[in-house]
Amino acid sequence: MPELTDEHSSNRAIHFDNQFLSLPEHFYTRLNPQGLTTPVFASVNHKLAAELGLPDDLDQNANFLKAMSGNALLEGSEPIAMKYTGHQFGYYNPDLGDGRGLLLGEQIDRQGRRWDWHLKGAGLTPYSRQGDGRAVLRSSIREYLCGEAMHHLGIASTRALCVVASREKVYREKPETGAMLLRIASTHIRFGHFEYCYYRKDEAGLRHLADHVILTHFPQWQDLPDKYERLLRNAIQRTATMIAKWQAVGFCHGVMNTDNMSILGDTFDFGPFAFLDDFQANYICNRTDTGGRYAFNNQPNIGLWNCQCLAQAMLPLLGTHSDGEQIAIRLLKEYEPAFQMAIVKAFRAKLGLQSEQENDHQLIQSLLNLMHANKVDYTRFFRNLCEFHSTQEHGDLRDHFVDREAFDIWSQQYGQRLANEPIDRPTRESMMLQSNPKFILRNYLAQRAIERAEKGDFSEIGRLLTLLQAPFDEHEGFAAYTASPPDDSKGIALSCSS
Ligand code: AMP
Ligand code: MG
Repeated sequence: MPELTDEHSSNRAIHFDNQFLSLPEHFYTRLNPQGLTTPVFASVNHKLAAELGLPDDLDQNANFLKAMSGNALLEGSEPIAMKYTGHQFGYYNPDLGDGRGLLLGEQIDRQGRRWDWHLKGAGLTPYSRQGDGRAVLRSSIREYLCGEAMHHLGIASTRALCVVASREKVYREKPETGAMLLRIASTHIRFGHFEYCYYRKDEAGLRHLADHVILTHFPQWQDLPDKYERLLRNAIQRTATMIAKWQAVGFCHGVMNTDNMSILGDTFDFGPFAFLDDFQANYICNRTDTGGRYAFNNQPNIGLWNCQCLAQAMLPLLGTHSDGEQIAIRLLKEYEPAFQMAIVKAFRAKLGLQSEQENDHQLIQSLLNLMHANKVDYTRFFRNLCEFHSTQEHGDLRDHFVDREAFDIWSQQYGQRLANEPIDRPTRESMMLQSNPKFILRNYLAQRAIERAEKGDFSEIGRLLTLLQAPFDEHEGFAAYTASPPDDSKGIALSCSS
């Protein structure tokens, strides 16, 4: 068993089982990370470490720091850069792959779960194109915090075990601090891996890849005649559900290219993402997305578009020519109902509605229209709504709206709707408090943690991590972290240059 720890630390092992290496060699390139000089931990995610069965003193562990900064290999690690392709902003790009990250290995934890360990910022690879193979501290902190935020909001997501900072300079729009991030995911296989096989007309490779995902994640399907159909259906359903949850929490991904879509439906690759502050349905968080392809309210459509790319790539596995197409069309038709079911469920929970009624959809839509027209802070409003009393004045809630009379009309409808509910007010309130987070990763909060970290003070990362790992809790004394952004930090749009 490979050992992570040095002689001074508790003696626990990581068990790697690197199944991706069983795929044909054109799927990857073996290479070692290029280490960062002067590495220090900016943060270690102790909560995730415990879930993975790792020691709780990782931040004190010199061997671990060496491995997480690309200066040593963990025993059992066999690093590779993965080859994949994908559609970026609607256009197929055959030249993608891990350009700055390496899959270090696949950990099997004590519960038998499989976790990819991926070191992001680990240097040049054959797929780096014009890039430098590096990651900067700014983006690494954003990804680190956002993965935790999503996971603890109940949204499937990759996470990260640690961020390592350094004194190395990495050039983006200006000189920045070089860093590495250790990303943990059930898989790093993307829609783009399937597209890679399809566009090189490699049916055998496609079959290998699909069989590999089934073997590692759905072994119970291995001998079923419709196993590939199940794999595609699973990806479609999970993608639809994931995006419904993004919409309900106000998360804008920013770069929904098919190389950033996980075959297991995890939120994947955090770049210029944003949680909405003021609700703007057509908000574009990515400065380079001038056409608004990945605008907030277009995410559900793009999710389907991406699933179409995946379905097309999997066609050769689904049956003979026209049969396969029929199956793909039938499965793609399941996207919309899966999305609708998940979003209505999420919004019912946000509004505290336990029963289902036909015009719930309308009640939700009219609220969102009002919030858009009045630029209402999305998270603060829903958190305040938890205290709604149908029989009392709701001054605080009204104050979210410029057009208070319009809100009064809606709140009257809402009050009537609540009157038909079987649950009492306290029960509803506690249910709503578990569905409407108090803490989200607002861009200005992330920015503050980044600015301090760039000066060597990592404490703000830890504070945010604690809040985001329990986003529905009250956290007395942290009210300032629920504030809408100051005017000069509103609607920050970020670019892809991470
Ligand atoms: P992303 O926008 O992070 O999803 O990356 C898209 C593609 O560009 C992937 O193939 C990445 O590996 C590659 N890439 C992004 N940044 C860099 C970089 N600094 N160096 C090398 N490759 C990069
Ligand atoms: Mg990517």
